[in-house]
Amino acid sequence: SIVVFGSINMDMIAQTPRFPQPGETITGTHFITLPGGKGANQAVATAKLGRSTYFVGRVGGDSLGRDLLKKLETFDINTQGVLIDKNTSSGVAMITVETSGENSIIVIPGANGNINESDVIRLEKILLKTSLLLLQLEIPLKAVEIAALEAKKLGVTVMLDPAPAPEKIPDSLYPLIDIITPNQTEAAKLVGFPVSDTETIKKAAEELLQKGVKIVIIKLGQKGAFYATENEEGFVAPTAVKAIDTVGAGDGFNGGVAAALDRGLSLKEALKWGAIVGALTTTEEGAQTALPDLETVEQLINN
Ligand code: ADP
Repeated sequence: SIVVFGSINMDMIAQTPRFPQPGETITGTHFITLPGGKGANQAVATAKLGRSTYFVGRVGGDSLGRDLLKKLETFDINTQGVLIDKNTSSGVAMITVETSGENSIIVIPGANGNINESDVIRLEKILLKTSLLLLQLEIPLKAVEIAALEAKKLGVTVMLDPAPAPEKIPDSLYPLIDIITPNQTEAAKLVGFPVSDTETIKKAAEELLQKGVKIVIIKLGQKGAFYATENEEGFVAPTAVKAIDTVGAGDGFNGGVAAALDRGLSLKEALKWGAIVGALTTTEEGAQTALPDLETVEQLINN
């Protein structure tokens, strides 16, 4: 089983011919709500791939919180570790999209921002039943650190997606991480130099290994990925797709790797799963709806 400890948001997306001026009211053309948050997306990814999945986090005491929980349950995700934080709003992203395609976004962490060490007490009970913990950085870093420490104590594999790109991760966190999965921008933030070509990709992976991580996977968008361990390294070929919307690709990749490892597959096989799931996530709009199911991935694997 897999447990995700992280963020859950509702994206509220308004389409408008143009952005309003301060103080101005205008009429938009469309509105949709889309469940998201990196934590929730990764949980949906592993659940859709048929793995038993737990989500631990917080929603607000509002109707959005109830909707977000219901949504997780439609994917058969266990939500017993979710706290309803009564005096706070659920995490939301208010997104305005102009007809031109330009967008402006306000993210309000809400309940996600209140996550602290008390939430790790709920997580601990679930860690006893799981073999893999997925973390990201959309909840307070302190909570992520305590969660990683607990997982390590219990022998649970820790996979950290250092996204959104942090200013800095404390050095003490790295040895608690089994698998770190930055994209190029995030890798650059972590190592302090641009990560662009083969040389700098390898150098960044090397530095992250030296900090104490066991497996480094750098996500390279349409170029696939690069991985390195103490003993081996190499590129992971991208799966050829017609990408239309890359939102959620990184979460799909992580979900694919995690699901494969939870099935007992090797790292090499898991990387292939990550690349396939990441690629497929770009072929449809949105994140959670675009994430592929097990059947689709298995068909591609066998080809
Ligand atoms: P993030 O969403 O975190 O920025 P990436 O854009 O690197 O991450 O995408 C994650 C993974 O999804 C990549 O490592 C790659 O395997 C796959 N992927 C993303 N975009 C494409 C694409 N256009 N074609 C094929 N694979 C893709």
